[in-house]
Amino acid sequence: MILETFPVGPLQCNCTILGDEEAGEAIVIDPGDAVTGIHRRLLTLGLKLKQILITHAHIDHIGGALKLKRLTGAPILLNQDDLPQLKIMATQAAWLGIDTPETAPPDDSLSDGLTVGLPRYPAQVIHTPGHTQGSVCLHFAPLNMLIAGDTLFAGSIGRTDLPGGNPYQILDSIRTRLLALPPETRVLPGHGPETTIGTEERSNPFLRNII
Ligand SMILES: [Zn+2]
Repeated sequence: MILETFPVGPLQCNCTILGDEEAGEAIVIDPGDAVTGIHRRLLTLGLKLKQILITHAHIDHIGGALKLKRLTGAPILLNQDDLPQLKIMATQAAWLGIDTPETAPPDDSLSDGLTVGLPRYPAQVIHTPGHTQGSVCLHFAPLNMLIAGDTLFAGSIGRTDLPGGNPYQILDSIRTRLLALPPETRVLPGHGPETTIGTEERSNPFLRNII
């Protein structure tokens, strides 16, 4: 298995490459930026890209997706409830003072319960609205790993003051969907260091009042 997570772009979004070297296949999660480097890395590893998975349609997570699709032919998957975020991409770019990336509607929706990923490393989509309405986490049960997007961070949670955000909903998503996972589940958040479900359940100050 190849698992590489590295920060991309001005907001240091964690992009992940997950590859199966025997099958020669990979998926990329949240290629917000640095697409040339991501593509070069896939070529170096000899992996064919099968899916581009987007945890939510904030510019720092989705900004490079269409460029990567054009380079590789891989489909883009995004929860349909984040389609309104695509429509305000120019506004999102203005928040950061950067150029507006070209975007396109996703090829498929990351609907709750859908299985995505690679045959040997499948993930189940967990719809976790709150940071945005279409925010999802990806649970790779065989790897005991969760890609959390901007829903859950080490010691923090995603902001809810941007369009589509809802502070009650994000806490409900975390409580009912994420804390239900095994405590030893490794969590790779959309920004910052990795953690585990158990660590956050015990010590995340934002979750004190909801457990
Ligand atoms: Zn975000």
